[in-house]
Amino acid sequence: MERRSLSALAGSGARIAILERGERLPDTPETRSYRSIFVDGHFRPKEMWREPDGTAFNPGNFYFVGGNSKLFGAVLLRYRAEDFTEMQHLGGVSPAWPFPYEKLEPWYGKAERLFEVRGELGQDPTEPVHTTPYPHGPVPDEPAIARARAELKAQGLHPATLPLGVDIDAWLAGGRTPWDGFPNTGKGKKDAESAPPAAALNDPNIELITSAHVETLEAGPGGRIEAVHYTHNGERKRLCPKLVILSAGAINSAAILLRSGDGKGLANRSDQVGRNFMNHNCSAMLAINPFQRNDSVYQKTLMLNDYYLTGGRGGLPLGNVQLLGKINGDILKANAPRYAPRLHSTSWLAMPSTGT
Ligand SMILES: Cc1cc2nc3c(=O)[nH]c(=O)nc-3n(C[C@H](O)[C@H](O)[C@H](O)COP(=O)(O)OP(=O)(O)OC[C@H]3O[C@@H](n4cnc5c(N)ncnc54)[C@H](O)[C@@H]3O)c2cc1C
Repeated sequence: MERRSLSALAGSGARIAILERGERLPDTPETRSYRSIFVDGHFRPKEMWREPDGTAFNPGNFYFVGGNSKLFGAVLLRYRAEDFTEMQHLGGVSPAWPFPYEKLEPWYGKAERLFEVRGELGQDPTEPVHTTPYPHGPVPDEPAIARARAELKAQGLHPATLPLGVDIDAWLAGGRTPWDGFPNTGKGKKDAESAPPAAALNDPNIELITSAHVETLEAGPGGRIEAVHYTHNGERKRLCPKLVILSAGAINSAAILLRSGDGKGLANRSDQVGRNFMNHNCSAMLAINPFQRNDSVYQKTLMLNDYYLTGGRGGLPLGNVQLLGKINGDILKANAPRYAPRLHSTSWLAMPSTGT
């Protein structure tokens, strides 16, 4: 089959069933409550995962129509052209991809149009070639962030506007909060429910079945997936489509494959399914100036890639630095309960370059 996104399949005549274990996120007061989200864990799944040593933890992995993007920071960055080449990092060599950035470039443009990305080119020296501009102008810096941008520039750095899938007026109409980590119930954030599938679901051939928990996949003698076994409202069901696309997220896709094949696993001759998982290996940094008040609401409009490819002074790549959504006392209390005053900080997220 020709490679197409779900939204491009609308109108194709193909009959498509989407099995989703979650439900649509309801619009409740908790969706804009720092306390409900960051202290009470209201939206977290009611399940525990285990560390290799058996220690249980509640994962920050969300089960709703739209998946984790319902809570995401909506930063829609392209990988840099250098990310596709072999590169030496502090942790070792990141091998080259089998194709260069240019191969994906038109698809990035299509995705940016689907997610209605707000951005601005020409500020970040690491920005790869764009043959199409961002479809919308940037989300504006709030005054405290505009000051931070000017101060960083004065130091010779290259602060750049974050490309964001956020309609800021629509978001703030739902409440004066940041969007990073906050669930999206309207059209403010362009996520995997509100952006591409919203249009696709108008096609009567495309059906979304919620509370449909996929347990296993069944392979035929040639290894082709012939059936999907799932539980829907407590009832066990079996679906036999012509083609199965497994897209349950990095961890649950692997978990489904590993528990298939009578528990022996499927598509795992390499023994690599579920291994080599990568997550942000990141640090948050809070800058506090007792003489300045950060009165921002959403804050998250700025990044720095001065250390992404070179580590600053010709050293090895370090990573991307970008603003977090505005941190308040409730978030600090949840993470540092003993000494969390209600501070007016500016908070930054430091993430290693993608090769590490
Ligand atoms: C707080 C937060 C902030 C983030 N910020 C950003 C950001 O700014 N920019 C960025 O690019 N990324 C960000 N991310 C990461 C981004 O959200 C994920 O990388 C992305 O959503 C992954 O998409 P996916 O489709 O692979 O998986 P998921 O989003 O996990 O979607 C998988 C879907 O499958 C469903 N599912 C799982 N198991 C089953 C099963 N057994 N049966 C049926 N359905 C199942 C889930 O409910 C879910 O809807 C953030 C994530 C979080 C949590």
